[in-house]
Amino acid sequence: MTENKPVSSNFIQNAIDEDLKNGKYTDGIHTRFPPEPNGYLHVGHAKSICLNFGIAEKYDGLCNLRFDDTNPTKEDTEYVDSIQRDIKWLGFSWDNRKFYASDYFPKLYEYAEELIKRGLAYVDDLSADEIRAYRGTLTEPGKESPCRNRSMEESLDLFRRMKAGEFPDGAHVLRAKIDMASPNMVMRDPVIYRIAHATHHRTGDEWCIYPMYDFAHPLSDAIENITHSICTLEFEDHRPFYDWLLESLGFDVNTRPRQIEFARLNLTNTVTSKRKLRQLVEGGYVRGWDDPRMPTISGMRRRGYTPAAIRKFCEEIGVAKANSLVDVSMLEHCVRDDLNTNADRVMAVLDPLKVIITNYPEDKEEYLLADNNPVHGGQRFVPFSREIYIEREDFMEDAPKKFFRLKPGGEVRLKHAYIIKCEEVVKDETGKVVELHCTCDPDSKTGGKTANRKIKGTIHWVAVKTALPAEVRLYDYLIETDENGSVPSDFIAALNPNSLKVIENAWIEPSVKMTAAETHYQFLRKGYFVVDPDTTPTHLVFNQVVGLRDTWAKVSQK
Ligand code: ATP
Ligand code: MG
Repeated sequence: MTENKPVSSNFIQNAIDEDLKNGKYTDGIHTRFPPEPNGYLHVGHAKSICLNFGIAEKYDGLCNLRFDDTNPTKEDTEYVDSIQRDIKWLGFSWDNRKFYASDYFPKLYEYAEELIKRGLAYVDDLSADEIRAYRGTLTEPGKESPCRNRSMEESLDLFRRMKAGEFPDGAHVLRAKIDMASPNMVMRDPVIYRIAHATHHRTGDEWCIYPMYDFAHPLSDAIENITHSICTLEFEDHRPFYDWLLESLGFDVNTRPRQIEFARLNLTNTVTSKRKLRQLVEGGYVRGWDDPRMPTISGMRRRGYTPAAIRKFCEEIGVAKANSLVDVSMLEHCVRDDLNTNADRVMAVLDPLKVIITNYPEDKEEYLLADNNPVHGGQRFVPFSREIYIEREDFMEDAPKKFFRLKPGGEVRLKHAYIIKCEEVVKDETGKVVELHCTCDPDSKTGGKTANRKIKGTIHWVAVKTALPAEVRLYDYLIETDENGSVPSDFIAALNPNSLKVIENAWIEPSVKMTAAETHYQFLRKGYFVVDPDTTPTHLVFNQVVGLRDTWAKVSQK
């Protein structure tokens, strides 16, 4: 039943609708997300997750999680665990359908024997270099291996002995027998099994031959009854082999999986390749896979990006058939949009300058009511007393006329509190301003007689006595790029030396006491921040999420 479903919004859904109309896949739509556990997931994978789980949801179908773990030397259970955590955090569920390609090793082996028996695969003795040399080029056909016409019996015997561990790595491979003159290089007798005496993170030393991705992937899809195998564009040339393999092994065309390619996500200023991200981690250029500057899902989580914002972003960029570069400010826009409605607003001073309110009693302390968020409401108390911190940049000694914050003899409103006037500037011997002496208008706070007095500037502050010390980490892009935002191939040389700035002595209002990691705030006038997992009850650590200014909204209105 698809009549009541929303209108297809992209070419993948059109293809699925077409299949359903033609009477294919009558048992329902079934997709999968197939990460290789050789690194942490990144924002590109988020797109693939949203797409695969999203399509399953849209068609009341199912989406499996499958670890594509056919490459034992690069894979690890640390990655298996992080991948599951990240998918759940994004808000998707594979229910009880978590699979591993390695679970299918016995079955895949049987399929390989089947191909040999049908005369569609052979064991080759050529070395990897020779196979490459024999393959030909885009303009020249390849050359057949001398082993190509060895008997089915001999290939079967050799393949079984490969499995039994009789040969060293590289001595033989199993190849599909297709066409060495095919214009598609993938179809020139691709290698489908190789010898690797390596310990696998799940099957241990049980196997010393491993299937190649191009062989394992279509068959894993077929074994799981996947209907649509959605992958990125670079696999387009591999589709003929995908179909050849399933056809050769007799899978029914009306039920067997169909591969559909889409454009991978590329983001400005951002590296989206596990290999490169691993280089950043292993080279010590970042603090780990979850460094807030990393475009990994765990990095984005630590940075304070929310699952809702990332899902919204994936929805907004849509799915295309051609590669393109998406502006990272669009992702930031989605994050800002979400936090604008969902993060409570508090006051924090990142670069403190002390202000003494000389006409305010020394022992007095009052609690002022402050709104948490204009959308979802809520209020809290903010303590006020004689000594406060303001932002150093909110005071200027030789201020131009248009400077509406604090200046000698000038007035400014303290958010949620009083209007104060700067009476005296105290400097140290070097001439640096160390303190301001101000007076306050006692009737100027909310509800007071002069509450509506017109004052141009409003600044944030915290009371010295009650403020909590905090460490605040400010971030910039990890990679410096040209004006188009594309990452240079030598991205290590383009690392931004100022991508992290740590402020050790910021002050924040006490309402945030005891909040735990992943709580979001807007620091008034400063941007969005999130509590970092390094936080303890006695040491607060915040990460800057995004600033308040929306560069994307500006770009998209042009
Ligand atoms: P990487 O190049 O970062 O190693 P990969 O494609 O090798 O990525 P896999 O673990 O094999 O990583 O990917 C799992 C799924 O995520 C695949 O279906 C892949 O096509 C998809 N995927 C990976 N990168 C992107 C991206 N940038 N945009 C969209 N989908 C992606
Ligand atoms: Mg891959």
